[in-house]
Amino acid sequence: MEMIMRYSRYFSFIFVLTLFAGCFDSSKSPIDAKHFNVSSVTFDKQTSPVIIIGGGVAGLTAANYLVQANIPCIVLEGDKPGGALAQSDSVRNWPGVLNAPGRDIVANLRAQASNNGAKIIKEKAVRVDFSQWPYRIESKNLVTGQTQTLKALSSIIALGAEPNYLNVPGERGKNSYWGKGVSNCAVCDGSLYRNKNIVVVGGGDSAVEEASYLSSLAKQVTILVRKDYFRAKDKRKKEEVLARPNVSVVFNTEVKEILGNGKHVTGARVYNNKTKQKQEILFDGLFLALGAKPNSKLFAGQLELDSHGYIVLHDGQETSKPGIYAAGDICDPVYKQAVTSASDGCKAALQAQKFLDEIGCDVQLSREQKKAEQKLLSEQEKKREKKDSALVASRTQKQDEYAQTILQSHLADQVITVTSYAQFEKIVQESKKRNKPVVVDLYANMCISCKNMEPIFHALDKKFSQKVTFLKINMSNPEINPEKITSFIKGDDIQSVPAFLFIKDGKEIDRIVSEVPMEKLERQIQTIL
Ligand code: NDP
Repeated sequence: MEMIMRYSRYFSFIFVLTLFAGCFDSSKSPIDAKHFNVSSVTFDKQTSPVIIIGGGVAGLTAANYLVQANIPCIVLEGDKPGGALAQSDSVRNWPGVLNAPGRDIVANLRAQASNNGAKIIKEKAVRVDFSQWPYRIESKNLVTGQTQTLKALSSIIALGAEPNYLNVPGERGKNSYWGKGVSNCAVCDGSLYRNKNIVVVGGGDSAVEEASYLSSLAKQVTILVRKDYFRAKDKRKKEEVLARPNVSVVFNTEVKEILGNGKHVTGARVYNNKTKQKQEILFDGLFLALGAKPNSKLFAGQLELDSHGYIVLHDGQETSKPGIYAAGDICDPVYKQAVTSASDGCKAALQAQKFLDEIGCDVQLSREQKKAEQKLLSEQEKKREKKDSALVASRTQKQDEYAQTILQSHLADQVITVTSYAQFEKIVQESKKRNKPVVVDLYANMCISCKNMEPIFHALDKKFSQKVTFLKINMSNPEINPEKITSFIKGDDIQSVPAFLFIKDGKEIDRIVSEVPMEKLERQIQTIL
């Protein structure tokens, strides 16, 4: 009897524990391997043990962990490869790195993943169906526009966040000043505002970063903060930026309307929420740094989202569907740091690995796959190195000689990288003599949209190189005088990149200022032939 009493106490203790475990984890049902019949799955080109949606820090870290565990994965890197970190000019809180541009950090992460066998593709998820397993992900190729349906046994969602806007007249939409003085990417468009007066709106770390970058180029940077304090966590950087002679801050100020002359921004109507005064202020460019909201529209109705659109996590990084994990800013309303995104990506990959183990998936990354990916990467790198060394070599030559080199590559049907105004002028004149229109791609180093347009521009060069001269000009190159280049023909400044100029008989016929689909650029080229 005493024994029964002793054991009954023990059993009731276990019963209570089980009840508690149920309370803490009520939404999670144990994985039922019967529902995930791996033997019925055929692993073809469209089917992968794991598909990662998003190629920022979270997605690439997840890919690294998976390939290190020999698990094949596809990364849909989407239209913001490298994610938010790639837009950061100077990162000082990435472990073990004193100070580096964000794009270098993500480039290393990407190379690490792809070197070890991750298949990183220039595609974007456009629809998901998580109601059937293997999970279906429809993706769109960003160059050709073609779509395909991929199947995944498990998926990691790392789509990050999309920027907030002011939603005031003049900001976006028809007849607005978006791309004509209003921007949300300092590292893309900043070089177009050398010696100008700039306003940055926002009081977070991004606003401090934007102001820091812009203050090295602009005459004056004014930060407009709607509260009477900054929200930025990096206090040291904030103090350092505010101490610069050409940076000032105005608190309690809200932008109510963006003003311009039809062609570009001239200022804004602002409201001081403390003094209740309205005022018009004048400036040449306005940069938004208003934070972001989770990029989760694609998953509405498929996964549980909270009232702000963040993907709800149940067990570590697991979402409301077994085998589907989320990582980074899409599921993190609090920390939103590059390091915490990497940590999420790591945890999501380890959980996906566990899930695959539990359902009995033992598909391994074959040596051949690893080698194939490595070969592809080293070939790409060799090509890039060759191109870079050719560029460096040609830069060291005198301008006239360089112009000759340019004309040679011109004849060899390649996109020409222009590095000075003189070269630009010379090529335009030369093309005029040859009765060949010119299409110019104005880009900046850290502009993700510009990177997206690069393969499209090269594909069009291949198609039209007999009839059209294709030029590329890096507007963030300090040796380029952006004003001179962009006012060459039309007399209007370009205030945003990517921008494409269409030149015929030495005159600008048209321009497109934004990331556009290949068909649109192609149609525009047809009009100048
Ligand atoms: P935050 O959400 O931190 O800050 C957004 C800022 O924009 C706030 O000051 C907010 O004002 C303001 N804002 C929002 N909407 C409006 C509006 N309509 N009008 C005027 N002001 C507005 O976003 P961040 O992008 O700065 O940072 C996001 C996360 O990324 C943070 O966790 C940050 O720490 C991190 N980060 C870290 C960096 C680093 O470590 N170096 C660099 C960049 C970002 P209010 O405060 O009144 O809401």
